[in-house]
Amino acid sequence: MAGTKSRAYFAEAVKVIPGGVNSPVRACKSVGAEPIFFERGKGPFLYDVDGRRYIDYVASWGPLILGHAHPEVVAAVKAAAEGGTSFGAPTWAEVELARLICECVPSIEKVRLVNSGTEATMSAIRLARGYTGRKKIVKFDGCYHGHADSFLVKAGSGVATLGIPGSPGVPEEIVANTISLPYNDLSAVRECFEAVGQEIAAVIVEPIAGNMGVVPPEPGFLEGLREITRKHGSLLIFDEVITGFRVGLGGAQALYGIEPDLTCLGKIIGGGLPVGAYGGKAEIMDYIAPEGPVYQAGTLSGNPLAVAAGLATLRLLRRPGTYERLEELSARLFEGLSEAARKAGLPTTGNRVGSMMTLFFREGRVTNFAEAAASDTARYGAFWRAMARRGVYLAPSQFEAAFVSLAHTETEIEETLEAAQEALREVAQ
Ligand code: PLP
Repeated sequence: MAGTKSRAYFAEAVKVIPGGVNSPVRACKSVGAEPIFFERGKGPFLYDVDGRRYIDYVASWGPLILGHAHPEVVAAVKAAAEGGTSFGAPTWAEVELARLICECVPSIEKVRLVNSGTEATMSAIRLARGYTGRKKIVKFDGCYHGHADSFLVKAGSGVATLGIPGSPGVPEEIVANTISLPYNDLSAVRECFEAVGQEIAAVIVEPIAGNMGVVPPEPGFLEGLREITRKHGSLLIFDEVITGFRVGLGGAQALYGIEPDLTCLGKIIGGGLPVGAYGGKAEIMDYIAPEGPVYQAGTLSGNPLAVAAGLATLRLLRRPGTYERLEELSARLFEGLSEAARKAGLPTTGNRVGSMMTLFFREGRVTNFAEAAASDTARYGAFWRAMARRGVYLAPSQFEAAFVSLAHTETEIEETLEAAQEALREVAQ
């Protein structure tokens, strides 16, 4: 865990940065640890400032599907930087990235680039409200859509990790327009639409939840959302900031064969640099300025470095066999972890879709946030610490995913499983 240098750096960090970190979960509070400061990453590994190596399954919270510092991504960023870091004017590379996204993601005909997942979801909601002329949005408990005001209601990720029900600073008037329902509960959605369907601009959902730990949609859930929103003239927004290009080139919508009206992307499409995007049917996207009346803009949107990293990443992902390879590695890891937990006699249950997975420290299925929240988070914390001591870096929260990258090989997976066997035995005592 945090070595001498990391601890010294953290002591300095808290003096000048709130909580010592620039995003809350990084503080590692919920796993009873101090943050590890990293110096560099290469392939599947992270190296901390105390000279220790870790096999990394956080992948910068999802973007690094190729692993750290992939040579082709680094070369693309270097080349872009040589040509100028920002113009605030159109570039051909932006068009290439937009084309690639439109080609890969079934429901996207037009796409606008922004700088983060938060910007993508925030803008998609504004567009949905502008397009429908309605105010309310429906989200699901434990889903995380970034930190814009409308979404900080029963949210997942860091909000769930820190046990924050909402957030001071978010006006009640805004929250009053957000309805949060249990994930995978279609009857709750139906009831809600029967009551106030005419006021609902959009339903926004993580088609595979990744921010309460991984929770896949139950059969029929996404289909039901599609049918109900269509019937009531509301938009269906898939937040594929995690799942986009993670579970396949076409994201969760291609995997399950459901076409949302709008899709939010981020993480992987920026190859580790700050990018987000929202896209969908041309008719809806043309409501955005300068074509339409809904305003949205950005000084650094379509930034040449970020676009170069994203393009290089997506082009590599399009090579044949990519997702088959990820599946093979991820299945081995997941099966090995589940077996190790069973052997250690620990009550756990796992969820996995492709290369995103979570081992929950509780028995029984996890299909929504209430079930995820019933996990033994103290035990997860002990597991996290035991794994970190053995050189495996997992997300410092039960309510997050572990991500496998194409840089992992069988060697790292087996090393991880050996560490997990020991760690799980240790925490079972
Ligand atoms: N949507 C989902 C599903 C996410 O997982 C996240 C971040 O983890 C976001 C939106 C927000 O993205 P960002 O952190 O880039 O603002």
